[in-house]
Amino acid sequence: MRVGIGSDVHPIEPGRPCWMAGLLFPDADGCAGHSDGDVAVHALCDALLSAAGLGDVGAVFGVGRPEWAGVTGAAMLTEVRRLLTDDGYSVVNAAVQVIGNRPKIGPRRAEAQKVLGELLDAPVSVSGTTTDGLGLTGRGEGVAAIATCLLECSQP
Ligand code: MG
Repeated sequence: MRVGIGSDVHPIEPGRPCWMAGLLFPDADGCAGHSDGDVAVHALCDALLSAAGLGDVGAVFGVGRPEWAGVTGAAMLTEVRRLLTDDGYSVVNAAVQVIGNRPKIGPRRAEAQKVLGELLDAPVSVSGTTTDGLGLTGRGEGVAAIATCLLECSQP
């Protein structure tokens, strides 16, 4: 068994589609970035890669890898899961918390957990919180996410 941790922060870009935790939120502005800006997925990918000792999102999908420009969260999780499977790991469970004013996670929590859980073939808990108006997330300048996971290695 191996645990991992990941986090991410992106600035909000007014008018950009808001992808968060694998869902499109039509009533919120999305995050800027090299990908679709889904910070929840990025934090989750970092947690999974760290648990397996496979580096981080920047190394796998970063600006030095132009073939991944504009990549969706679903494609990132599919690729990370492939890397884990190749190394003999399966996901036991994962959890991700979105920190920011918008989008509101609570009303769509079950939907997000279903999408992410299917991509990883494991239970994924999704939660949301604000920072009570404090900091870059409280001022609505950006959205942050933090994630953790547990992996099981089938190889001795
Ligand atoms: Mg990111």
